[in-house]
Amino acid sequence: MWVTVAGPRGGVVREEETLFAFASRCADILNIIDRDIDLEIIVSESLEKEYSDAIGLCWGEPNEIQIQLARKCSGGEKQDILKTLAHEMIHARQIATGQRLLERPVLRNESFLHEIVMESI
Ligand SMILES: [Zn+2]
Repeated sequence: MWVTVAGPRGGVVREEETLFAFASRCADILNIIDRDIDLEIIVSESLEKEYSDAIGLCWGEPNEIQIQLARKCSGGEKQDILKTLAHEMIHARQIATGQRLLERPVLRNESFLHEIVMESI
């Protein structure tokens, strides 16, 4: 897996190193680190209008996955982008392994994944 972290227009993100380490550690635990995947993580203040109720998105194909993280929800409240990233990394695994994007298995595991990755970065 090749991870890149960028702002909405390719700009530098101040937490780049943390996000890179966090995503890599998630990918290791989720057993997708050795796959041929380009993972692009884009961090912006909020998501586009059509997704403004979401704080994260994950889409793509098994070899090319994009994750978008919002610093704020539609109400303007600040978000923990690492918690959102843990959630989206499980979706990334679903895409990488050709599974359907289901919420339930993600919600069941996101807190545990976040917790164990926080212990090791
Ligand atoms: Zn989700």
